[in-house]
Amino acid sequence: MNCHETQRWLPGYLDGALDLVNAVAIEEHLKTCARCAQAYANQQALQAAIRGNRLYAPAPVGLQKRIETSLRQADPSARAPWTVGWRWYSVALALACVAVLAWGLGRALVVPTADDRLAMAVLNSHVRALLTDHLIDVVSSDRHTVKPWFAGKLDFSPTVEDLASQGHPLTGGRLDYLDGRPVAALVYQRQRHSINLFSWPVPQARDTAAVIEEHQGYNQIHWTQAGMTYWAISDLNVDELHAFVQLVQHQSGPTLAP
Ligand SMILES: [Zn+2]
Repeated sequence: MNCHETQRWLPGYLDGALDLVNAVAIEEHLKTCARCAQAYANQQALQAAIRGNRLYAPAPVGLQKRIETSLRQADPSARAPWTVGWRWYSVALALACVAVLAWGLGRALVVPTADDRLAMAVLNSHVRALLTDHLIDVVSSDRHTVKPWFAGKLDFSPTVEDLASQGHPLTGGRLDYLDGRPVAALVYQRQRHSINLFSWPVPQARDTAAVIEEHQGYNQIHWTQAGMTYWAISDLNVDELHAFVQLVQHQSGPTLAP
């Protein structure tokens, strides 16, 4: 991807609206092009500034009085301000209710839930790691190597178990970014298939049973257990992935039955 194309697609990339192939192509270009990387940083800052500020300004003091006064002047037959106000407020309130209902309905119909967005982010992380050959930062089957590697890189210590004796050898780990925070990604192998196991703390969250989903040919299973949330994803068939998840759940303490 060249500079022209990169800058043209940057807004879509920032919104997470690009397909994976183009998103990866942009990422590769940004790594090597200072000019586009600067444009990306600028747009990112602008987006953050817009999100951070409420696009709302309180009406100046006295505006309501001035409007009421000018309305009365325009229509001398108007009665006491409070009767006029009452009718207008009723109509305005009814309109506002309709607007809120329509907005809520629209959102319910078209806006994906937080879990949907997370499922897509997990899928993208998994596929991107496979495509860019960046599955592992620390290559090791030894949990005593992998677990300390995360120390200082994360504000929590992930549970790391080698499940080799149960047919799922640990091959390593890497840092990833999901749900607006750095997370641990552990990589396990099942025959020729890679399994990514993402985990991060969710303090005070209740335990949840495993939820199984399939997106674009990849199976995903997520659950919350002992204050941690877990997402496992692989192109393994769902039964084998579920067997892997049960092993992880068993190692991570008491859990809800699915
Ligand atoms: Zn460029």
